[in-house]
Amino acid sequence: MYLEKIILKNFRNYHLQEVDFSPGVNVFCGENAQGKTNLLEAIYVLGLGKSYRAFKEIELIKWNEKFFSVNGLVKNRDKNFCLDIFYEKDRKKKIKINGQEEKKISSLLGILKLVIFSPADLQLIQGSPSERRKFIDREISQISPLYYHDLQQYNRLLYQRNNQLKRLYEGNDELEVLRILDQTLVALGSRIIYKRLSCLKKLNLLAKLLHRRITAQEENLNLVYNSSLGRLEEKSEQEIAEDFFKALEEKRKEEIARGSTLFGPHRDDFITLVNNYSVKNYGSQGQQRTAVLSLKLAELEFMKSESGEYPVLLLDDVMSELDAERREQLLQAVKNKIQTFITTTDLHDFSLDFLKESKVRKIKKGILL
Ligand code: ATP
Ligand code: MG
Repeated sequence: MYLEKIILKNFRNYHLQEVDFSPGVNVFCGENAQGKTNLLEAIYVLGLGKSYRAFKEIELIKWNEKFFSVNGLVKNRDKNFCLDIFYEKDRKKKIKINGQEEKKISSLLGILKLVIFSPADLQLIQGSPSERRKFIDREISQISPLYYHDLQQYNRLLYQRNNQLKRLYEGNDELEVLRILDQTLVALGSRIIYKRLSCLKKLNLLAKLLHRRITAQEENLNLVYNSSLGRLEEKSEQEIAEDFFKALEEKRKEEIARGSTLFGPHRDDFITLVNNYSVKNYGSQGQQRTAVLSLKLAELEFMKSESGEYPVLLLDDVMSELDAERREQLLQAVKNKIQTFITTTDLHDFSLDFLKESKVRKIKKGILL
């Protein structure tokens, strides 16, 4: 699968820009603040329907303009997909696939699968649990649109349930309503947790292997799912649902007093261990970066094994952060099999041989030269 071309209109600092890509490695070089990250962000928006860094959609519209659009052509096995994302101020975002309007983002997921790797990904180790939940959710959503749908429903229900808890605290409602909400919450929540567990299990095997290779057999990496419901590794979906129900029953009073749901996938996390110690608490910067690299490479292999094809890879500014050995490992991993988009301020980060095989473009003030 690869992205053949993209057309941006009023996207961030781009006015109108068409870019043809190589199915191999594409390098975008430019000084700071020229539009390198913006271009990768546009590719991301095309694949997942929303940005990974904008707080609000409106930030993506070029200043003083009223709309943005991102349009792209994806070659996916023997099929072509024309994707269109259009957003106008104060309107609903429009998504079209091959000219046909789609109401749900989930219809888009899986067509242009992607993995993004940027310095901000260190947050996967250092950041809050929500960063790690986002990582694993994005991963599964791209191979299972149903999962994305479940998540959305779960979050809506959670909001309702928390409001219900607050009403109960004020003595304004019946416990029975909460019990009805719990039925669906548990069904959706345990399905989400079960899928996460099975994803993490596979990801763990891959990351472990890759990490051993990257660290010359020195380090043993382990990913452990840390659930609000306790240890769940070997449990079935049904057993997880039973644990979930029990936890809600037992802590009903506390939940009402606090007005919030204390158990479920929205409270879960995963821990990355290196040689049995949490790399968040004990790892050096370099070890943390390497763990993230292993996770990202594992993500690529996971998607390939689940969907039969590699996603495209977006590497934003990571080359300068890795040492020569790790950089080489990363480039070897993508070479000749994964369409890759790399941004850099300095082409010296790459060998001449590598650059010879890549398509290199310069970006200046929102224009590709
Ligand atoms: P760096 O090397 O520092 O990461 P970059 O080339 O990745 O730089 P971008 O993040 O792509 O830079 O941003 C390029 C420019 O786009 C910035 O100067 C930013 O202020 C500008 N910009 C961001 N959003 C908008 C917008 N909505 N409209 C116009 N310009 C914008
Ligand atoms: Mg940038």
